[in-house]
Amino acid sequence: MAEMEHIVIESGEKEQPFHYAVGMYGSKFFKELKERRVFLGIKCPTCKKVYVHPRKVCGECYAEMTEFVEVGPKGKIGTFTILRYAFIDPETGEQKPVPYGYGFIQLDGADTLFQHYISIDDESKVKIGARVEPVFSEEHKGTIKDILYFRVVD
Ligand SMILES: [Zn+2]
Repeated sequence: MAEMEHIVIESGEKEQPFHYAVGMYGSKFFKELKERRVFLGIKCPTCKKVYVHPRKVCGECYAEMTEFVEVGPKGKIGTFTILRYAFIDPETGEQKPVPYGYGFIQLDGADTLFQHYISIDDESKVKIGARVEPVFSEEHKGTIKDILYFRVVD
């Protein structure tokens, strides 16, 4: 069998900065998060389901939604995983130190789940149904990074 050569192609040190619009409802969500540290959901006028993040149309009954409601800031873990295999964080371009927790959180008053990091300082407490609260960043940028992670309370 012929000896095989591995070819490695590198992207070099190129950066690809990008920007994207979060929409009218997303802008309201992040503005409230930035200025008041409040989570905003939106309530369907027909079936009363509360969505976080806010969206314009109910996924259940297709009604247009305009009623913003405060939810959280506490909630419970709907499901989670603990990542032990390192990969590149798309938000930073750096390898995120492992292990870390990531989960879907049902904020109090919401019917949908909100994705974010979960502290695993005490991994034995990280369970489905565990009560959590957000830990905010010192900086108020109006992005999802204003929340550092959620931690188990009790
Ligand atoms: Zn609905």
